[in-house]
Amino acid sequence: MAAVTPESVTRLIEAFAQLPGIGPKTASRLTFYLLRRPAEQAQALADALRDLKQKTIFCSTCFNITEVSPCAICQDEGRDRSIVCVVEEPLDVIAIDRTGQYRGLYHVLHGAITPVEGIGPDELRINELMARLKEAQQTAEPVKEVLLATNPNLEGEATGMYLAQLIQPLGMRVTRLARGLPVGGDLEYADIVTLGRALEGRREM
Ligand SMILES: [Zn+2]
Repeated sequence: MAAVTPESVTRLIEAFAQLPGIGPKTASRLTFYLLRRPAEQAQALADALRDLKQKTIFCSTCFNITEVSPCAICQDEGRDRSIVCVVEEPLDVIAIDRTGQYRGLYHVLHGAITPVEGIGPDELRINELMARLKEAQQTAEPVKEVLLATNPNLEGEATGMYLAQLIQPLGMRVTRLARGLPVGGDLEYADIVTLGRALEGRREM
């Protein structure tokens, strides 16, 4: 029996269905929606998807996603260079910056230590963080505080503990977000007010 649906249609449905939060039904709906729309709209989407991977790189300093390296945050002279906030994902940078409670620099680990998935310290940007902190100590603008803002779940807490043990011998202040964030959740889903309070009430490790 010949396939009822053209291959190009099936292909897009399958591609959409691989995205988080999109089931087969939504994938079909999105695909047939695009079929009804002008060609320019589909083209704009295709261009955006291509540029996403072709134009973005990791910042050589903080490993956030950027189109220029060092990124806009690392280059921003108005930011407090004495404090570095360590997060798991680029989305966390956006979430924390949106609170307006934090004006320091960032460091993106790109995950948390998760032994069951084979993610150890070497899979994360931890060596780069340590090198960066040590390097800053030799400059006129040393880092005085490292704020560990990993997720308030098992992996995030373990990663925070691991980092605290590494960083404390360097003699800088190591802090953690205040408790009160939804436990087990991701930082990116915390509301601005709660996250702002957690930043304000950060505690020593
Ligand atoms: Zn950067």
